[in-house]
Amino acid sequence: MKKGELGMKHIIAMTFPKQNLNLGLEPSILTVVPNDTDDVKVHYALDQNNIEYDDKDVLYYMCSVYITGMDEFFKWASTHDKNKIITGGYEPTINPQEFVDYSYKVITGPCDSFNETIAQEGTIVKGITNNWRIPRYDLYDVHLNQQIIPDKEKDDVVTSINTSQGCPFNCDFCCSPLMCDHIMSKPSSLVQEEIDYLKQTGAKYIFIRDENFPLQKDWKEKLDIINQLGAKIYLFASSNLCTEQNVKYMKEHGVYMVCLGLEDISVKYGKNKELDRTCELLHKYGIDVYLSFIVNPLKVNTDEKANDFYARLLERFTELKPEMVCGNFLMPFRGTKIWDDYKDYVDREDFKSYDSKSAFLEKDPYRRLKDEYDMFYYQWLYYNSKFYQDNIRKFNVNDTLHLRFEELKDEFDEKIKKYNEAHPEKPLIVNGLSDNDEKEVKDVKVKKLTRNAIRNKSEE
Ligand code: SF4
Repeated sequence: MKKGELGMKHIIAMTFPKQNLNLGLEPSILTVVPNDTDDVKVHYALDQNNIEYDDKDVLYYMCSVYITGMDEFFKWASTHDKNKIITGGYEPTINPQEFVDYSYKVITGPCDSFNETIAQEGTIVKGITNNWRIPRYDLYDVHLNQQIIPDKEKDDVVTSINTSQGCPFNCDFCCSPLMCDHIMSKPSSLVQEEIDYLKQTGAKYIFIRDENFPLQKDWKEKLDIINQLGAKIYLFASSNLCTEQNVKYMKEHGVYMVCLGLEDISVKYGKNKELDRTCELLHKYGIDVYLSFIVNPLKVNTDEKANDFYARLLERFTELKPEMVCGNFLMPFRGTKIWDDYKDYVDREDFKSYDSKSAFLEKDPYRRLKDEYDMFYYQWLYYNSKFYQDNIRKFNVNDTLHLRFEELKDEFDEKIKKYNEAHPEKPLIVNGLSDNDEKEVKDVKVKKLTRNAIRNKSEE
């Protein structure tokens, strides 16, 4: 036990892998942990370090496990008392059987009522959500949050809120519906309580973490409440829900950026039929557009295919004019519709690389590094292009978006240097990133790639 806490029992909450403090927000496990009582105190152990507490004084270890943290979790769990370990999160929800030997209870799906949930019989239990209380923000230092977003400076405080869980859509690559395949909405009164609590954080930005915020019937009422925080709001929405009336309402109620899924540009998505119109509307009302896109390494596995793909992607960027873009490599999750098509490309070691920035579906190390570099490079090219400076915003402004790309540039310089030292027979030669050369290369290249893409299109 911790000194001075005689007779007190402890619940230690942890995440596997450890939280990424460069990119992260409040961890979801704060929603699951219960309130303290006279004799049970809850702690969030940021670094999975529970040595401050004697095992005998610990009532439960609550472990939220994501696929990249599985090995870390199994290693940790094998040295702790199974009867005190409660697991939950994405992996235990999707593959609960794998956790049974390491857990007293395996919680599947969302949960905000811990005691009621673990009181259920059996080892695998469904999470119970009662919406009785707000997450335990008090266990976490909001200053640890970082988000990479336009205009946010390093010391600006950012917080987040969930007003609903789950998604009823069924995009074939997405694991969100596996966690919860329908919308579970929080009552507005609870959202109000949460926002009242968050006022003390001094947050300048707030991220609404719902998978598709305007899908809830009462989203306008909730936005109105969230706007009381006086922070800049950004949220996920599907393009089909961004009607002019809705976009106008968002603008009038504090929304400064909407995140839309461009996804894989070589695939047609019903939800994106109106994407061009949506981006236009958002810009008309002065709302920034954040577009996330997916790259499937198996579709860019030659230089020719990669050049063609990125030329088309850059062309889409110049059409949709997003203030921010974010690339993710395709990550086939067990349980999703695409899993069967990709399972032969994924081995257990790859689970550690499910961070969306690793092209682990590509097995050739040369091409994998090239893929990872390309994803960074074409975003860098877009942000630094004359097109972006003239038509969208200035990139070089020392906000977290700009600083993150500077960091990535240095990381890739280092990675490529190391790779080339180890493979002198076939070094990876990439487009340079030095300031002077780049000013030329960027604009010429964007135009050339875009022209090629248009020409290829018209020849089809
Ligand atoms: S990609 Fe978005 S809309 Fe599609 S299933 Fe996932 S959360 Fe839902």
